[in-house]
Amino acid sequence: MRIDIITVHPELLESPFQHSIMKRAQEKGLLEVHIQDLRRFGLGRHLQVDDYQYGGGAGMVMMVEPLANCIEGLLQERHYDEVIYMTPDGQRLEQPLANRLSMKENLLIISGHYKGIDERIREHFVTMEVSIGDYVLSGGELPAAVLVDAIGRLLPGVLGDETSALFDSFQDGLLSPPVYTRPEDFHGWKVPDVLLGGNFKKIEEWRHEQALKRTRERRPGLLEDE
Ligand code: SAH
Repeated sequence: MRIDIITVHPELLESPFQHSIMKRAQEKGLLEVHIQDLRRFGLGRHLQVDDYQYGGGAGMVMMVEPLANCIEGLLQERHYDEVIYMTPDGQRLEQPLANRLSMKENLLIISGHYKGIDERIREHFVTMEVSIGDYVLSGGELPAAVLVDAIGRLLPGVLGDETSALFDSFQDGLLSPPVYTRPEDFHGWKVPDVLLGGNFKKIEEWRHEQALKRTRERRPGLLEDE
């Protein structure tokens, strides 16, 4: 899968993809992340990418022309399954959306800044608008990194244990059960006996009960959705 991210702050997107699982996904050739520096399409001597908003009011708006030129250049090179704008008024990112996007081949993500981007880009190029939650961040880079991580870890072969993403919270409509590792006893804080017994059927039952209990306590809405 190939993901392009358009940004005015490429440096904000360096670290998230250079470590851990996202790094491994790229090394294995399963994920390509290309950062597109919008400034290259900036206008005039100052490579301007934003301007005051029509009608007045505080805050700059990202201009239509640099974005359009950048997007059109990319669209000439390949087909994108979705052109996604990260925005607080978009569709909320939840696991099913990440699952769906992980099956695509090419995604183009636009991260906004300042007051956002000129509405005409949304009308004419954007096919999907995604929010990572009901709060406002200063730029779309962190949201884009969140989206790419959520998608990237689902690509077959990215996680060491292929099945492990399936058992994460939300995949089966339940939160994850508690997990433990060595030692069995730390300062008298013990690991539940059932996990040490080696009876896999019992362990599965216990995990399911715990997942249900946790979901009922913390996110009862997930159970009602079924
Ligand atoms: N004025 C806009 C907010 C702009 S925030 C509004 O009120 O809706 C600046 C940029 O940060 C946005 O263009 C968007 O790309 C990004 N952003 C901020 N919060 C976000 C969120 N919750 N989800 C996705 N992107 C977000």
